[in-house]
Amino acid sequence: MDLFEYQGKQFFGSFDIPVSAGEAVTTVEDAVAAAERLNTYPVVVKAQVQVGGRGKAGGIKLANDADEVRTFATDIIGMDIKGHTVNVVWIEVASDIAEEYYASFTLDRAKKSHLGMLSAEGGVEIETVAEENPDAIAKIWIDPVDGLDEATLREWVAAANLNPDATEGAVDILGKLYTAYVDGDADLVEINPLILKPTGEVHALDAKVTLDNNAGFRHEWAAYEATQERDEREEAAHEAGLEYVGLEGSVGIIANGAGLAMSTLDVVNQAGGSPANFLDVGGGADADKFVAALTILDNDPRVKSILINIFGGITRGEEVANGIIEALGRIDLAHPMVVRLDGTNADEGREILKPHLGDTLQMESTMLSAAAKAVELAAARA
Ligand code: GDP
Ligand code: MN
Repeated sequence: MDLFEYQGKQFFGSFDIPVSAGEAVTTVEDAVAAAERLNTYPVVVKAQVQVGGRGKAGGIKLANDADEVRTFATDIIGMDIKGHTVNVVWIEVASDIAEEYYASFTLDRAKKSHLGMLSAEGGVEIETVAEENPDAIAKIWIDPVDGLDEATLREWVAAANLNPDATEGAVDILGKLYTAYVDGDADLVEINPLILKPTGEVHALDAKVTLDNNAGFRHEWAAYEATQERDEREEAAHEAGLEYVGLEGSVGIIANGAGLAMSTLDVVNQAGGSPANFLDVGGGADADKFVAALTILDNDPRVKSILINIFGGITRGEEVANGIIEALGRIDLAHPMVVRLDGTNADEGREILKPHLGDTLQMESTMLSAAAKAVELAAARA
């Protein structure tokens, strides 16, 4: 899950990374009160949306007194930034900036390593730096088992050609940032800009953090979880305990197991169609799960046909078939559905489905033919 800047700063703060003091608020009055509590001006009024380039969009303003906080908070709360409505603003003590840098850690899956990036060209989007001046980004790959030792860290910082005054501060923050990334179970931590102040301190002025949801059980992430922005489909799936990701295509997909669900997306593409979602019903095959999954897909205006792709393992084919039939009895499905059922006791499962086949429920014997059928049905109804 992606954190808002103010949550990212809270996350950084818990690993002792220096961030500015501030408060997150949702109303103009609270924004003014928060600024007064910070008890120093200027403060920065920052729109909290999960999209970059807030500064350019007018979502970040320096306020010199309470009246300016009121003016800027009035402008920013409710503002639309690239399709995201601003509901929360973060008021923080303004920093003096001598230089702006870029720092991040993320996973390089191809290299099976962590990737650290550090650049003296901060403040702008890293993609732009990568395109226009790739040599300005110092990269290191860190073996997750070995970790990041101080000598390597120092070499890396030296390679980035920061102002020498920033060296010690950068080494300190980057060491902590790596710890935050690893121990905090993040997939991405990014500070842009990481600033050098005229006084010589190095400080995180922005925070972008993506946490690994699979590690949630190890942490207290309820507060982050509570503010997640989900579309209606994702919210319904989350409540039903389904692994769901909304996409833009027209073939709704239900599969068991994340690997099979991903392959199903590929096969729908291969058949010339486009998936409306990723949905993993997981193990088991009770009707409740199918009811929840089918309801989400059926209510999605993008969906034109539904493809169920199940490979029976511990869950046997006849249980799956019975689950599907019971679910269909409980909801009035508006879209045609194609089932491919294979694996343990698939023959028994198919026998159960056979008497119910028709325009609404169709069956195919292979994954590719089922995908082709679902794509054809979706195209006919587009
Ligand atoms: P983004 O545009 O969404 O990446 O938002 P940032 O938090 O990175 O802020 C954008 C820019 O606003 C920064 O690169 C700074 O130049 C400026 N800015 C943000 N906070 C401060 C501050 O405390 N003092 C000053 N002088 N500038 C700031
Ligand atoms: Mn930024």
